[in-house]
Amino acid sequence: MAEQPRRIQVGEATVTIINAGDLRFSLRDELAVPEEEWRPAHADVFATPLVFPSQCFHIAAPGLSLMVDAGRYDVPEGSGFAIPGYVPPPALPEQLAAAGIRPEDVRYVVITHAHWDHFNGVTQAMNGSDAPIMPTFPNARHLLGRADWEDAKMRAEVARPDSMQSRTLGVLHRAGLLEPVEGDRDLGGGVRLVATPGESPGHTAVRVESRGQVVYCVGDLYHHPVEVERPEWMATWADRAATPTSRARLATAALAEDARLLAAHIAGVGRLARTGEGVRWVEAEQHGE
Ligand SMILES: [Zn+2]
Repeated sequence: MAEQPRRIQVGEATVTIINAGDLRFSLRDELAVPEEEWRPAHADVFATPLVFPSQCFHIAAPGLSLMVDAGRYDVPEGSGFAIPGYVPPPALPEQLAAAGIRPEDVRYVVITHAHWDHFNGVTQAMNGSDAPIMPTFPNARHLLGRADWEDAKMRAEVARPDSMQSRTLGVLHRAGLLEPVEGDRDLGGGVRLVATPGESPGHTAVRVESRGQVVYCVGDLYHHPVEVERPEWMATWADRAATPTSRARLATAALAEDARLLAAHIAGVGRLARTGEGVRWVEAEQHGE
């Protein structure tokens, strides 16, 4: 039996935080920051590999059940991301069941971006490896930034029947459950898509508002709090112009709204706080959530 995942309250909406499994990687490898820039003030987070959760979020808003990302722990022992001896948490469907969330009721799955750890749980094999692969959320529209879906590499992977992309997003597409989206979009129930290109061209955040409270699920807009402080520091693959623009837009809105932030790879619940030079990530208070 899975442990109860953590929940936070956003007015009338409830957000359930589900960790698909911890990954280990090093910011020095993943971020395009020269050593002479990180060494003086941030050696503590860059010099050695760190452990990052891989979180999905369920939002129960009035009249709306919605997932933000749907990951599956799929890290072979010995891979660069594996933690020696690590026992991953139960799979997403089990954790949802433990939280009383029915996959059949989920109306939307927002895939923040088309990196494997954010969508490889959208389908599951039914009883055994040769069994048909079925959508995990059979009644949901799966929303993915059009630029990620139409990306040339994605097109090539989806065309290969055995690729991970074909067995996940391809299955959804063939079932008519995948909907490419562009720009901001209102999903009802106080939930809104916010285009945040940079980490990928179609990267999309999710804003939840209820009774004056706001939470953003920011996907991989930030992988670590150090990127909040240094918004020009980003992954090697990120768009160097779009990323700081998306971060500035999100930070301006979140500060004005006193919003809480949930990031896929940052444990806990954050808020942004102004500093002399800019902004930093702080832990949101535990009480009153
Ligand atoms: Zn990620």
